[in-house]
Amino acid sequence: MAAMLALRSGVDHLGSMRCTASVATSDGDGAGGEQIVDDAQVDRVLVVTAHPDDVDFGCGGTVATWTAVAVEVAYCVVTNGDAGGFDPAVPRSAIAGIRQDEQRKAAAALGVTDVEFLGYPDGRLTVSHELRRDITRVIRRVRPDRMVIHSPQRDLRSIYGSHPDHMAAGEAAMCAIYPDARNPFAHPELLVQEGLDAHTVREVWVMSPNDRAERYVDVTEAFDRKITALTAHTSQTAHMTDLDERMRDWGAAQAAAAGLSAGRLAEGFIVLDTR
Ligand SMILES: [Zn+2]
Repeated sequence: MAAMLALRSGVDHLGSMRCTASVATSDGDGAGGEQIVDDAQVDRVLVVTAHPDDVDFGCGGTVATWTAVAVEVAYCVVTNGDAGGFDPAVPRSAIAGIRQDEQRKAAAALGVTDVEFLGYPDGRLTVSHELRRDITRVIRRVRPDRMVIHSPQRDLRSIYGSHPDHMAAGEAAMCAIYPDARNPFAHPELLVQEGLDAHTVREVWVMSPNDRAERYVDVTEAFDRKITALTAHTSQTAHMTDLDERMRDWGAAQAAAAGLSAGRLAEGFIVLDTR
């Protein structure tokens, strides 16, 4: 596996120095994980996930790395997460509100304040026309340069990474990215009634938390903030006595796949050209 360290720097619109490091890997399949949009030119990122806590497990370190260099990051969480939790003493009717509050606290720990919940029921997500429209609405409002989404494809080597809600959210997000958000005649009410102009997302990062990703972000310096964000999801993580160790092992395996030195931690992605 060949690895290339790409160090990108630039000055953002706020005048602060922007500098992030990521690693592209290539196994000779021609994909190579090449970025379409240079980090220095990214002002806004939109992350679409199925459940509260998905963003923090999958790419919390990457989000912290981006917000640290003044990239604006927004979250769109599709379901309420109301099938989650581990404590039977907590009324099920209270779960959605608890998890939304937890996600907002976790977002704040990573420098994210724009968190929108679409309110779909947890565990029953399908790629509906309505879901495509609702994600399209958020894309047209946020107008991101880059998006981060779940994989629409089942990973046969990772049953937990292939939750049906994740695949549905990933597929609906891809449909919203192309063709819906960029086509002014798709979901016409968004333009006619809400004044939301078409928008083309140029680049999509698909979360790929394994050793087969094409691009890895070195999140070693952001790891503590990732743990802080995950800890904010009390209803999901309070019983995990090995959360720090588990996340460190996970990040180390991805760093090793990226060819980073021992002791480094990484998060992996597949980068898509969606221009
Ligand atoms: Zn999830």
